[in-house]
Amino acid sequence: MSTPAWIRPATLKEALTMRRDYNARPLAGATDIYVRHRAATGTLPPLEDRPVLYVGHLPELTSISEDGKGWLRIGAATVYTDILEHPDTPLLLRRAIEELAAPALRNAGTLGGNIGNASPAADAVCALYALHAEVDLAGHAGERRVPIAQLITGPGKTTVGADELITAVSVPMDRPGSFHYYRKAGTRRANALSKIAFCAGGTVLEGRLTGLGVAVGAVGPTIVHSRDLEVRAEGSDLARYRKLQQEESAPGGFLTARYMALISPISDQRSTDAYRRRVTENLLRDLFERTIPTLLSGKAG
Ligand SMILES: Cc1cc2nc3c(=O)[nH]c(=O)nc-3n(C[C@H](O)[C@H](O)[C@H](O)COP(=O)(O)OP(=O)(O)OC[C@H]3O[C@@H](n4cnc5c(N)ncnc54)[C@H](O)[C@@H]3O)c2cc1C
Repeated sequence: MSTPAWIRPATLKEALTMRRDYNARPLAGATDIYVRHRAATGTLPPLEDRPVLYVGHLPELTSISEDGKGWLRIGAATVYTDILEHPDTPLLLRRAIEELAAPALRNAGTLGGNIGNASPAADAVCALYALHAEVDLAGHAGERRVPIAQLITGPGKTTVGADELITAVSVPMDRPGSFHYYRKAGTRRANALSKIAFCAGGTVLEGRLTGLGVAVGAVGPTIVHSRDLEVRAEGSDLARYRKLQQEESAPGGFLTARYMALISPISDQRSTDAYRRRVTENLLRDLFERTIPTLLSGKAG
């Protein structure tokens, strides 16, 4: 039997078999794959020298459900428009998706594709880092769940196995006291990849900060984040937060200085190293000097 150019499996099980047997390349919305293969003539197959495995129709990959423990499980091939329409999508992820590409692209693009493409400027992935999202993968050997930050290892590089598919992404749903902070710097309002994507979230309840997540895109080879720094702020009230910030006398305090030490922006066709540094520092200072202290003091409007 000759190797097929395109495969449209009937079930997830069949998809996994095809992935393994043909080393087939997963495809959901094709909004990254087609751009990458723009030198190909037209949009007809063959797109690649290995079979393309379409997964965008599989029910297991296109549903959204609550797990009963406060987490929302979003199928990896659910299109952005459907994620936006779901009432329980956390506001931080919603904000990132609202500014991702443009409506037509959001009718096709998926979280699985944003993760699989592993761009350091991926907007939805940036929000997923700040939300401490977990990613479900399935392969013939079974299923596994991995924190998003452990899955992406470099530009275009992930630890998704050659016989695996990303099946879902789980994020904590918003709860009382949840806050989000999202800023994107791009060339224009729509269809612009980020010069910088900046995502933060957490909860401030009864004057205490918990679950802080901070992630910055397009300022390093992967999304920049630090679990250690997030943990340093865990459980802080305003007095403890101020004390932590005073551990460094730099502008923007300890947290700004430590995050600035983690970024390594480059100059490319979208922006310059200096611009990315400047904007990142401004946003870090806005978050750590203004937004979080205001929330902790109970003065937020
Ligand atoms: C005009 C334009 C504007 C854009 N603007 C933005 C933007 O503002 N922000 C942004 O972040 N991105 C942007 N993008 C990029 C793109 O739309 C997103 O990355 C989108 O999420 C990709 O999803 P997809 O389903 O189309 O991926 P696909 O193109 O189908 O796949 C992308 C990669 O992921 C792999 N993959 C897909 N699904 C799976 C799966 N289930 N399991 C394993 N691997 C999988 C594929 O093999 C491939 O390597 C833009 C693209 C275009 C063309």
